[in-house]
Amino acid sequence: MVKSKPDRYQDLRDAVRALCAQFPDSYHREVDARRGYPEAFVDALTKAGWLAALIPQEYGGSGLGLAEASVIMEEINRSGGNAGACHGQMYNMGTLLRHGSAAQKQLYLPKIASGEWRLQSMGVTEPSSGTDTTKIRTTAVKRGDAYVVNGQKVWISRVQHSDWMILLARTTPLAEVQKRTDGMSIFMVDLRAAERSGMTVRPIANMVNHETNELFFENLEIPAANLIGDEGSGFRYILDGLNAERTLIAAECIGDGRWFIDRVTAYAGERVVFGRAIGQNQGVQFPIAEAHIEIEAADLMRFRACALFDAHEPCGAEANMAKYLAAKASWEAANACLQFHGGFGFAHEYDVERKFRETRLYQVAPISTNLILSYVAEHVLGLPRSF
Ligand SMILES: Cc1cc2nc3c(=O)[nH]c(=O)nc-3n(C[C@H](O)[C@H](O)[C@H](O)COP(=O)(O)OP(=O)(O)OC[C@H]3O[C@@H](n4cnc5c(N)ncnc54)[C@H](O)[C@@H]3O)c2cc1C
Repeated sequence: MVKSKPDRYQDLRDAVRALCAQFPDSYHREVDARRGYPEAFVDALTKAGWLAALIPQEYGGSGLGLAEASVIMEEINRSGGNAGACHGQMYNMGTLLRHGSAAQKQLYLPKIASGEWRLQSMGVTEPSSGTDTTKIRTTAVKRGDAYVVNGQKVWISRVQHSDWMILLARTTPLAEVQKRTDGMSIFMVDLRAAERSGMTVRPIANMVNHETNELFFENLEIPAANLIGDEGSGFRYILDGLNAERTLIAAECIGDGRWFIDRVTAYAGERVVFGRAIGQNQGVQFPIAEAHIEIEAADLMRFRACALFDAHEPCGAEANMAKYLAAKASWEAANACLQFHGGFGFAHEYDVERKFRETRLYQVAPISTNLILSYVAEHVLGLPRSF
């Protein structure tokens, strides 16, 4: 493993690493090969309390900051695992925590903290609107004590391995709101009950072993008590949660990046071609060194975003920039790692091709690189909005 200087989170790192070490490469490889869900791994992380890091102690969580939570995600990915199977459990509850009523928090948070309930899913993206979220067409219409939901979502992850989902739907038609970001609301959806009446789940086969789905709603009834916060403010509530999500995913990319650097430096140091280790050639060294430098820089931005978030300061720019830098750096590291493993990079037993696929996702989801660039151009640099 590449030597990193011990930091103030070393004890936390060691504890997460010790748990992850019980799930070696062969475990993750086998789950990937059968396109399964890493149940035992996610259960172990849940039982150890790591996924409840951000839930306050009064609700049974450990009440840690985003910095500590991000270290947990980083170490999962650095160990060869993929936090994408369970990261929703760590950050989706933030919406409830910030905007739920006292009764909702008391109902959901202790069960999420203990792992009795999984809140792994968040349903935002739709096929027709894509990144232009204000154009979503899924509607929720109040009828008596319930909202009746009709519409469609796409790419909604972990639905089959979650008990609850946070759903964004339009409660006031776009044509009737003053601001296009108004008139959307969020709801807690009991996924198993929904599957029995009004919601159809169609899995999407995809490049990564990532359980993600199309969802179809036909007169799905959600109790009005499941509305979170005020009707019409849902878009703002979702945005509120994005800084934590982006920073945690940046940390996952940093974990991936360090995994790639560890593997490729070890391999390049041992693999002898033309009578010397391939790692002795500058053509091999430089892309690896460059990726390492970029990962270290992304790491600084990650901790800057965490410090601001934990101090309750605005951190939109830093969270977005951390996600951008980390996703780019992990992808550079992935490319170098695959390239310098030569043919073996493509062999399942080296795990490089699996991690390569997994880390590529983060340039597209949960927000694409272009959308981060336009956020920075508009909100940080003051350039005109481009769309
Ligand atoms: C494996 C996976 C899991 C996912 N899980 C979830 C989930 O759990 N919940 C959920 O709600 N969503 C989820 N998503 C959806 C994900 O957030 C979106 O795919 C992502 O935000 C991009 O949206 P889109 O696919 O609609 O692309 P589009 O909006 O159609 O964009 C396509 C491309 O065009 C670019 N583009 C679009 N507009 C502009 C512009 N104005 N300027 C420059 N470039 C532009 C984008 O950057 C992108 O690269 C998941 C996606 C994947 C692949």
